[in-house]
This record gives sequence, C-alpha cells and structure tokens, in this order.
Amino acid sequence: MTKLINKRSWAEPYKMKMVELLKMTTRAQRVKAIKEAGYNTFLLRSKDVYIDLLTDSGTNAMSDRQWSALMLGDEAYAGSESYFKLEKAIQQFYGYKYIIPTHQGRGAENILSQVLIRKGQIVPGNMYFTTTRLHQELAGGKFEDIIIDEAHDSTSEFPFKGNVDLAKLELLIKKHGAEKIPYVSIATNVNMAGGQPISIKNLKELRAFTKKHGIRIIHDMTRVAENAFFIQQREKGYQQKSVREIVYEICSLTDGATMSAKKDALVNIGGFMATNEWDVFEEARNLVVVYEGLHTYGGLAGRDMEAIAVGIEESLSTHHQRARIGQVEYLGKKMESYGVPIVKPIGGHGVFVDAKAFLPHLSQDQFPAQALAAELFIDSGVRTMERGIVSAGRKPDGKNYYPELELVRFTIPRRVYTQAHMDVIAESAASVFEKRKTIKGLKMVYEPKYLRFFHARFEKLM
Ligand SMILES: *Cc1c(COP(=O)(O)O)cnc(C)c1O
Repeated sequence: MTKLINKRSWAEPYKMKMVELLKMTTRAQRVKAIKEAGYNTFLLRSKDVYIDLLTDSGTNAMSDRQWSALMLGDEAYAGSESYFKLEKAIQQFYGYKYIIPTHQGRGAENILSQVLIRKGQIVPGNMYFTTTRLHQELAGGKFEDIIIDEAHDSTSEFPFKGNVDLAKLELLIKKHGAEKIPYVSIATNVNMAGGQPISIKNLKELRAFTKKHGIRIIHDMTRVAENAFFIQQREKGYQQKSVREIVYEICSLTDGATMSAKKDALVNIGGFMATNEWDVFEEARNLVVVYEGLHTYGGLAGRDMEAIAVGIEESLSTHHQRARIGQVEYLGKKMESYGVPIVKPIGGHGVFVDAKAFLPHLSQDQFPAQALAAELFIDSGVRTMERGIVSAGRKPDGKNYYPELELVRFTIPRRVYTQAHMDVIAESAASVFEKRKTIKGLKMVYEPKYLRFFHARFEKLM
C-alpha cells in the first residue's frame, strides 16, 4: 500500500479559470470539409475541427500572469520598457548577450541566415526543419544532415536521437574545408525526428570539435526546455539539476540562437534572434528594420514581449515540463496499446505515427501520411498534420526529397487539453488503424513553390 502512495502520478500544475467550448461535427460534415480543403489539414477551417493537434505553435494557453503582463505592454515605437524586460529574461535564463525580437521564429531565421551565410556555403545540422532550411537555401547555402542514423529509424529506442554524428561533420569539413561552413545548425528536441533530444555530452563534444575548426554553433532553441527535461530524466549526472540550470548550460555551449516563442515560451506569437557576437548583432539589427520593425520591437507589440518574458520563466519549471511531457507520453502509450505504430521513444511535443508502417500498401508517392491525417479527421474531427514527403518539398534542382520518415504528427498544445481528450484521440487512431487496409492514397493537384505542405491540394486516388 505505502509503495503505491509513494509513487505519485503527475498532474497539471495549474487549474482552469476560463474555458473555450469545443465544436462537435458529424461525419458527413467532416467528409465535406476535408474534401473542400483539398485533403490538406492546413486548409481546414478551425470551426470544423474538434480537437486541434495540427501544431503546438502559438496554440498554447497563457497563464493569468501572462494575461496580466499584457496590460503592462509599453507600446512606444522606440526604447520600449517591454523590450528591456524581454532582453533581461533572455540574458538571465538563456545567457545570450544580444537579442533581436522578431514576429516569430522564421523572421529570426531569415535575418540570421542573411547575416551569416554566403552563396555556396554548407550548413550542417541535426536534421532539417522546413523554414530553417528554406532560409538557409534562400541565403545561398546548402543544408547537410549530420544527425545520427538512429534518428531516421522510427523503431530505434535510442534515448538521444537528436545527437550529431561527428564523423559526418568531419567528412564535410574534409570535403569542403571549415571556411565553407559558417555554422553548425543545432536544434534542441528535434522536431522533424519526432521531438527527440540531443544530450549535453554530445553537445560538449560538438563544441570542442567546432572550436578546433573555428566554426560557430547556432541553436534552434524552439524546444530547449523540453530537451532539458529529457536530459534530466535520461542523462547521467543531471538528475539533480533543474530544467532551468540545464537550459542555461545548453545555451552556454552555443554561440547564438533563433527562437520561435510560440512553442516552449507559452505565447501565441513572437520570436527572437540572439547572439554573443557584437558584429553579428550589429548587422542583424540593421536588417531587422528592413524586414520586421525597429530593433526594440521587431514586429511585436510591447504586450507580446511582456508575455514572452513571463512565458520563458514559466517554461523552465520542472513541474510544467513533467506534466507537458507526461501528457504526450500518456497519449503515446495509449496509442501503442492499441497497436498503432509510433516513433519511439515518445517525443516531447507530440506523438508521431509511422505512416509507412500504418499504410504499407501505399507508396511514398501516394502521400501516405497526408492520406492518414485526412482519414483521422474524417473519423473524429481530430486535426493532425503530415510530416513526410509533402513537408520535405523539393530540392533546389526541382527533384523531390524522399525522407526516410513518413509521419503523422499529433502535436499537443501546451496547457490546453485534458487527459480525457488524450483518450478520445487514441481511440480515434485505433479505429482508423482497424480499417487501415481500406485507406486509399492521394494525388497532388496543386503545388505551391515554397513550403508546399501549407497550401498543397490533393484528390483521392480511386
Ligand atoms: C516552429 C519552428 C520554427 C519556425 O518558427 P515559426 O515561429 O513557426 O516561424 C523553427 N524551428 C523549429 C524547430 C520549429 O518547430
């Protein structure tokens, strides 16, 4: 008896003060809605969605502290106090010296890529991210994947699938020369690998190696706190450290960062770029006025910067991360118990279903993950998204990328849904799994030039 009592479950470290009613629809309404949306869940109207797992980006519930911080926003065009609060939070909790607010993560990626990348240069990284790689390419660079092989294997249970394979980096340096590599692009809790962490040990080895060659590390820190929680749970020597301490240590091993505050930092809009180098800051500060706004607001309202500053601190609470990642794990385990094939280990921001294993009768050119996301929506109104061949897009030479992983992402917004919602989601995945053999593929009938997954349209193959 006492043993049971000693092992407590996690529970949400907050209670609800306001709720938003969900929309319930019929199957016939959903069939019509997804057809009109060209079988692309990005083109659905949210009024037709029941539980929205499209993304964890900007879909977080803010706390009462964040909502009240909004009222303190200093909306001065120049020199806003809210900017200085944000700067202070970033310096205190992440340790970067100079910061530039941007409207969201890709705004920071655009500026950073333009400042650091010259035409013909190589940007190695631990798996691509859609907007990150596109900005690297638009700046004239070429992305090279140097993540460990385990990351491309949905069945591997390796605890740090976000790690860099240093041998792959060494090969690139031998081939192109270190002067051709402006920086190594390191994401924490790698989104496209299924929300998988990088270890401090690996990051330290990478730091030593890049230092030897005079190459920077730029940190895509969109999910750094989730990564820190996994380090605390899994890495030797970190059990006694807080998420806050681990986040600081991760950042200290890198030279600069881009951040989408819409994820970890618990807000609905915002981002920033950070650097420890004055020269880089100076050039970025000059570019931000071209693309975003003055360097003391960068496309954000003063109130947005206030909410980010509070959100950064809240995101570093170990209790918050335990409940956040505990909820994702609960959903993943439930789906597994129904036999649904998922990426292992279960990631930080969502459960990733392996569409190749789910629909082995479809070839990758029939867009299995896209078809599966559409089918899930028809079944229950749960909206997920494709992370496979559609998201991977085309190479600069026009050929399709064929990613190893063909996934459907069930992304969990922070502090928004309950455990009972997780049950319903898993049950829907299970019923679609039961009739998987009847699911048909899709053909693409409209393809935009950039980031095609947002606007592409499909029709059902007969
Ligand atoms: C969301 C995201 C971005 C881009 O940020 P936006 O705020 O959507 O522009 C960059 N990198 C990663 C890993 C992300 O998840």
